Amino acid sequence: MVGPPKNLSDLRRIEAQVQITCTSCNATEIWELDALIAEVHNNGGNSDWHTAKYAVKCPRRCASPIISLLPIPFGKQRARSRAHRQALINLSLQILRTATDRSATQAVGTIEVRLALHVLRPFVKNRHLLVEFWRAATIEPRHPWASCHLPYRRIIGRLIERGISVESQNLP
Ligand SMILES: [Zn+2]
Repeated sequence: MVGPPKNLSDLRRIEAQVQITCTSCNATEIWELDALIAEVHNNGGNSDWHTAKYAVKCPRRCASPIISLLPIPFGKQRARSRAHRQALINLSLQILRTATDRSATQAVGTIEVRLALHVLRPFVKNRHLLVEFWRAATIEPRHPWASCHLPYRRIIGRLIERGISVESQNLP
C-alpha cells in the first residue's frame, strides 16, 4: 500500500491491526481492525482515515487526548501461524480422506484417525460431526452403508462454512 489509506476498511486488504497513540500522554494500544471500526462507529465517528481518530478515545482516558493512528500489517509471525494451521487441517483431512476410501470394506478406527479427529476439533467446532465419523469408522460388522463418506462430507462442509480453505485434493 502506498500512502495513507482513505478509509479504515482499506486496511482489510493488508489484514492490518492499528496502533492507537495518544501524543498528549504517550499511551499506546493495539487494536484489531474490526474492533476499532466498531468502536469508531459506536462513538459516532466515521471510518474515514483522516477523521476516524477523532472518534477514538485515549487508551488512558487522559484529559486532553491527541490521537494518532498507525496501521500495522500482520507480520511474518501471523502468516507463519496461519500456514501452520492450514497444514494441520489439511494433513488431518488427508488421513480422514484415505481412511474414508478404505472404509466401505474395513473398519478404519486407527490411532491416526483418532489423532486427526482431535486435531480438527477446534476448527470444526461441532463435536457431533467428529463422533459421527468415528462411529462410522469403527462400527462392526462392515456394510457398504457403514462407510465414512457421509460423515467426511459433513466435516468438509462444516469447515468450508467456517471459512477454512480446504485443499482440492481433500474435497469429497
Ligand atoms: Zn492520552
